[in-house]
Amino acid sequence: MKKLKLLLCISTCSLIICACGSQSSTYESKEAEVSSTQSISSTAPKSEPISINVSQGRSVTPVSTHTHQWGTPSYTWKDDYSSCTAKRVCTLDRSHEQTETAAASYQVVTEPTYEETGLGRYTATFNNPGFTTQTYEVTLDKLKREEELPIFSEDNKTVTYGRYPQSRITDTDLLDKLEEEADWQDSGYYLYEGEYYAKVYSQPKEDNYKFDDGTVIKTNVYYWFKYEPITWRVLNTFNNEYLLLSNVLLDATKYDSTNNNNYEDSSIRDYINSTFFDRAFAFGSSNVLTTTVDNSAPTTGSDPNEFECDDTEDKVFLLSYKDYINTDYGFDSSPTSYSSTRYCKTTEFARAKGALISTSGDEINNGLYWTRSPNAGNKRYASYVRNDGYIGYDNNCSYAYLCVRPAIRIKRNIEQ
Ligand SMILES: [Zn+2]
Repeated sequence: MKKLKLLLCISTCSLIICACGSQSSTYESKEAEVSSTQSISSTAPKSEPISINVSQGRSVTPVSTHTHQWGTPSYTWKDDYSSCTAKRVCTLDRSHEQTETAAASYQVVTEPTYEETGLGRYTATFNNPGFTTQTYEVTLDKLKREEELPIFSEDNKTVTYGRYPQSRITDTDLLDKLEEEADWQDSGYYLYEGEYYAKVYSQPKEDNYKFDDGTVIKTNVYYWFKYEPITWRVLNTFNNEYLLLSNVLLDATKYDSTNNNNYEDSSIRDYINSTFFDRAFAFGSSNVLTTTVDNSAPTTGSDPNEFECDDTEDKVFLLSYKDYINTDYGFDSSPTSYSSTRYCKTTEFARAKGALISTSGDEINNGLYWTRSPNAGNKRYASYVRNDGYIGYDNNCSYAYLCVRPAIRIKRNIEQ
């Protein structure tokens, strides 16, 4: 007669044979001897291997044992998500536990684009049927364009740097795609296939204004414009630092929304240093210097000027009245001369936004634009340059049809 020596799990509950035995299980054990005639069975739903030693002669009282009652598994990812470890513990005896570490596979679910983030997913699948497949998803950063740097012309008289909406989009296929697929970005433009676009609800100042191809600019319709490189005129160079003035009138806006000519507090100063700057230099701004802007009375063309203000520290600024008669910058010294050194063309974008322009002759599409200098006698007026190059003292700060001609200072990198 054979006797069986069993490795048994003991517990105080009334279940029968323990079903322990998988390699990853640990548990208390106790030898018990039973007669070979005793039938041994397990009611465990999933019976696991049982170690049995056979000995002779003795019979024993059946031992109280249990079928594991597994708690909810826990899953722990490795820091780099290369693997995931599952663990479950028996609720009847917490020293009984099963663990398994599964290597993770990785797949890109959605490729990132310039417009949208992508999605990657780690997946860990376990052999133990008590564990469920685990996934961990990661956000993939949007594609980024390389930082754009200033590009100097061969004669060093102009620089292209930054981008701003300028030319109207006329390609009908592209227009359809922009309407359907372009994504609005919090930074203030639409992105489509890595290029920036602006969508403008047109408000031309007059109904006979035209785009460059002669098409009349309609009122109250949407036009799309492409962000194109800004060309700057080099006004001055000092120690590898360059004073630059936009070659065209890029935008149109009020000098100040509260109709006050204090430049420091003006809405146009805020606009060019926030909205304009953020959009123009979204592809890179590291070469733009902060400039101490002189707002004293002598710069305004009227000294004294009770509306002078403190100097400001700005990335983008408007030139002063005095700057626009500075021959070192290439301007005519007479403020009242009609001078092509000062007059300046509007972009199609600025026209659609409401710029006032000339409609004929050499001055066609020239606009009026603000200087930063306040009028000396009336706090509602500021100086401006006319479409013929004449400098006036007295345009109303609340007029939105005057243009923005931004200036910046940049450093030139050694390799440029
Ligand atoms: Zn157990």
